[in-house]
Amino acid sequence: MNQLYTHQPFISFYTMAIYFDNSATTSLSAPVLEALLPYFTQHFGNASSSHWAGREAKKVIQSSRRQIADLLTINPEEIIFTSGGTEADNFALKSSIQQYNIRHVLTSKIEHKAVLQPLNQLAQAGRIQLDYVQLDEQGQVSIPDLTQWLEKHPNGLVSLMHANNELGTLLNLEEVAALTRQYGAYVHTDTVQSIGKVPVPLHAVDFATASAHKFRGPKGIGFLYARQGHRLPALLSGGGQEGGQRGGTENIPGIVGLTKALELAITHQTSTIAHLNSLKTHFIDEIQRQIPGVSFNGRCQSFEASLPGLINVAFPLLDGPCSLVEALDQRGIAVSGGSACSNLAGGSHVLQEIPSSFGRENVRFSFGADNTFAEVNEVLAILTELYETEEVSLAL
Ligand code: PLP
Repeated sequence: MNQLYTHQPFISFYTMAIYFDNSATTSLSAPVLEALLPYFTQHFGNASSSHWAGREAKKVIQSSRRQIADLLTINPEEIIFTSGGTEADNFALKSSIQQYNIRHVLTSKIEHKAVLQPLNQLAQAGRIQLDYVQLDEQGQVSIPDLTQWLEKHPNGLVSLMHANNELGTLLNLEEVAALTRQYGAYVHTDTVQSIGKVPVPLHAVDFATASAHKFRGPKGIGFLYARQGHRLPALLSGGGQEGGQRGGTENIPGIVGLTKALELAITHQTSTIAHLNSLKTHFIDEIQRQIPGVSFNGRCQSFEASLPGLINVAFPLLDGPCSLVEALDQRGIAVSGGSACSNLAGGSHVLQEIPSSFGRENVRFSFGADNTFAEVNEVLAILTELYETEEVSLAL
């Protein structure tokens, strides 16, 4: 019996549980669950089958692809479904490098590991020369440095993320992509944190990636956008699905869920941005008023230069046995020190590039559409209490 209780989710032990980690993942919204459920039970066909169930499944994929294309003002054939953002990034990078015999790649040190790892592997194998663009202290790309690189490597590939998952910093994608393509180089951008949340100029780039669980869709489904004219060799070869570009039986409940989630995200994008930015403004104002010595990592105080609802705060160090992230977790508040993945990989490689984070308790708060002012106030009260009762070791 006791055994059973230990397997209950931790959440049930808290009187109040608050989730401020929507950049790690989001909850599936009720209309999305409703839309996808019948595709597990009633409409379960394999789209490659030649009978009625297969034809029905194929139609669902076609209409989902068209709907996504309409929502993003792109062409249906520019979408290749994948198992999520990691696969889409690997696919875009490895397959474009192979297809176009690319030798030089420019990226940044604050990209997601789904970009850095495949590029490092290719560099270590001697397949590419990998360079890193200069960043300023807030993680913004240096345009003069990018330009200098492009002058040397006009046939290269530039991979820079649209929205940074830890800092929320937004790249001026139109400017960077126009400059890169003007030299003749290819542009890949990781748009996993921006698609559905802010407008994304997909038409400006060659390759972009998306993952449904970041915008209230299911986990395990995403897509690669490959601009018309690019035909990439499959990363996963098999049964020739996705026009021969991605083998594997299609995840139809996932595709239906992704489509519905994207439709909802884009339909309500303006009001969601307004809500998230008002939560953010309130949080930033209050935290500065209530806790002396806080500062911010990245440009989260600017609406134009950062994702709505994401704030990376550098707090004074707590003089206690656990980190601030752990102290908040013990009180039922889910936040993140870096990204969810950096918890696995031993610290944040992103914050290592951001001097304002050094020697601080760094916490990423990422709000979702369902978060409320009451929750923000509750967390502010807990933070204030923590800093009143604990010895603050940093000289203020
Ligand atoms: N790229 C970025 C910027 C992310 O934040 C994530 C997820 O954390 C990924 C890629 C990986 O996406 P997925 O979880 O769908 O594999």
